[in-house]
Amino acid sequence: MVTNLNSARFIANLSLCFVALLVPNYVTASGDHELPLGNGKVSTAPKVGYVYSCQTSFNGGGAFRVGEWVKQDTWQPSGKPRVDGFVIWPNALINITFDGDQRKVQSNNLPTHPTGVFPISSQDDAYAYDRNPNAISEQNIFLRLPRVPEFANNPSCVSMGMIGFALSGVAIFNALDAMGRDAPAHEIQDACGGHPERSGQYHYHDYSACINEFNEKGGHSKLVGYALDGFGIYGLQGAGSDAMTNQDLDACHGHNHEINWDGVATNLFHYHMTAEYPYTIGCFRGEVKNSGQINTQAGGLNNSAGNAENLNKAALELGVSVEALKSALGAPPPNFNKAAKQLGLSANQLRRVMLKYRPK
Ligand SMILES: [Zn+2]
Ligand SMILES: [Zn+2]
Repeated sequence: MVTNLNSARFIANLSLCFVALLVPNYVTASGDHELPLGNGKVSTAPKVGYVYSCQTSFNGGGAFRVGEWVKQDTWQPSGKPRVDGFVIWPNALINITFDGDQRKVQSNNLPTHPTGVFPISSQDDAYAYDRNPNAISEQNIFLRLPRVPEFANNPSCVSMGMIGFALSGVAIFNALDAMGRDAPAHEIQDACGGHPERSGQYHYHDYSACINEFNEKGGHSKLVGYALDGFGIYGLQGAGSDAMTNQDLDACHGHNHEINWDGVATNLFHYHMTAEYPYTIGCFRGEVKNSGQINTQAGGLNNSAGNAENLNKAALELGVSVEALKSALGAPPPNFNKAAKQLGLSANQLRRVMLKYRPK
């Protein structure tokens, strides 16, 4: 009992230290300075400082009121409220493995760091600008990326939705909100720079210090994730600890030099995050085999065709009948916590097995 209490306290203290480290980092990452506003910098071909966007007309929701921190041509990151809260996601699951010349990424898109409270509470100062009504929910992400990606013949556009994947387990989106504006300037995120979209998928639009708390110490930034073409996405700094700007990078927001790639010094193209718009990726240099919509809601397993065998295997491994498993999962998206309770299993165990036998 005492041990449990101590370890719980230890974990709580650890988490608090973690966030105490992170939040100031995040603020300095974006800078205390004004940044150029990206609104209107959407192109139909690769262009430095722009998002080469597959979608060209926008009409969706998002923040309903433009904050005072957004000026005519600039915005002030330090003037923007953050969504309050300290929600921990103990079921966050991310697994990156190799399969021949492929890198397999499996995740439920729950972050390995704390988040704010979503939907945004009416008590939150952020509510005056952005009433994001979505709760963070599990997604079922399964990606196969080339382990050593190559350039496509031509760069390609980035879609709305997931364009990359962070090592913290969550999606990276492009710089645009649903109205095609500069998302980090207009939308309100939490202290880790994330928020959920309509289906509950938590995502970043720019650099988050919460991806890797030791990222920005000195020298070239560490890997923070992978783009959907398989190329690495690195943090804000280049080889000389200098903050990367659009001028240092190509139209897709990357460059080529020696990096540590899976433990081997390799001369390879990679993307960088920048403090300035377009923050993440302007376009893809490699081929994207998965579309931006690869995140299917968890539960694709029990309703897509040809999955009977996988479902059998999952049921067998869980020690329950296929019928019980099907009925507990219900219509997609399933609530793993509820289903696990019904089956007398732990939610983690159920999630692990369902991801394992998810159709490839
Ligand atoms: Zn967003
Ligand atoms: Zn670099």
